[in-house]
Amino acid sequence: MVKAKKKAICVAAIILCAAIVIGLVSYDFIKSSNTVESTFLAMGTVITTSISGKDADAASEAVEEALLGLENACLSRRVEDSDVWRINQNSGNDVSVSRETAAWVGQALDISADSDGAFDITVGKLTQLWNIGSGEETVPKKAEVKKLLETVDYKKVAISNTSVKIDSEQAIDLGAVGKGIACDALRDILAQFDVKEAVVSVGGSVLIYNQKASVGIVDPNNSQSHLATVEIDNQCISTSGDYERFFEANGKTYHHILDPETGYPVVTDLRSVTVICDSGLDCDALSTACFVMGYRASLDLLQKYDAEAVFVFDNNSVSVTDGIKDDFKLTSSNYTVE
Ligand code: ADP
Ligand code: MG
Repeated sequence: MVKAKKKAICVAAIILCAAIVIGLVSYDFIKSSNTVESTFLAMGTVITTSISGKDADAASEAVEEALLGLENACLSRRVEDSDVWRINQNSGNDVSVSRETAAWVGQALDISADSDGAFDITVGKLTQLWNIGSGEETVPKKAEVKKLLETVDYKKVAISNTSVKIDSEQAIDLGAVGKGIACDALRDILAQFDVKEAVVSVGGSVLIYNQKASVGIVDPNNSQSHLATVEIDNQCISTSGDYERFFEANGKTYHHILDPETGYPVVTDLRSVTVICDSGLDCDALSTACFVMGYRASLDLLQKYDAEAVFVFDNNSVSVTDGIKDDFKLTSSNYTVE
């Protein structure tokens, strides 16, 4: 009788242990396949995140915090005391900035040099004048554009260690690289957590972290829908297009990508350029640079940065670089691939 009781206790203990082990294993499994999705506003755009893994909750919070910090401490032209604000306020002088900001400005200057100035962060005075996207735009006087055009020259920006100096007449604008910089910064944040995979979209720039994902390319004629998809494997993708921010006056459309040679919105046969490569900053800068340079002149620049691209033209034709031909799929019958 005592023996039978002991045996029953033993069996119960084994069942309890097994239940605990199964519970722990399945908790671990549920946690590791846990996906947290969020949508919020930062850097003047909509951010959407989808993060999977044990630390998805904590990583999701860290991503939101990091984006606000990045804008306020480093990149914003308008937030008082950000690195960019201080560089512009103290033009003509060395301004001490974070190590990261100095590195980003340096990386942007390299792309300015490689694009022969088609991409130039010293368009700041001109973008302030045009103020496209503010809702209060007017076409500036030709003489004003001409005067401020003289301030555009990336060669006048000097970086030494962690200080940045611009010419006394200049202002910088990191608007063309901010979202890509965010993608790079978020990749580093995600790596600090137990995150299996993630997709983070910062306006027109998307980070695909540790996974493959299909990313839609916006139809410039209908920005609510896609004209194609591209399969991205653990890289970044960025689009610049004339439909993103623009205003209309005197029957003409003025978009937000300026030609540093004329001071006016670029006149081009392109509607958008999408660039895919490892670095978020490079993608973002290159998409702007290629939009300014046009299709043919862009090809060597893309090759130099090991980047691929999708060009959408105003006659509804699409050109795709060789390296992503197999990953590209046209989804709209309104377009043709060249
Ligand atoms: P978005 O910011 O809409 O994603 P882009 O990455 O192409 O689009 O950046 C465009 C922004 O970059 C403009 O709104 C302006 O602030 C700035 N900009 C405009 N023209 C240039 C240029 N030629 N070089 C560098 N920055 C530019
Ligand atoms: Mg850009």
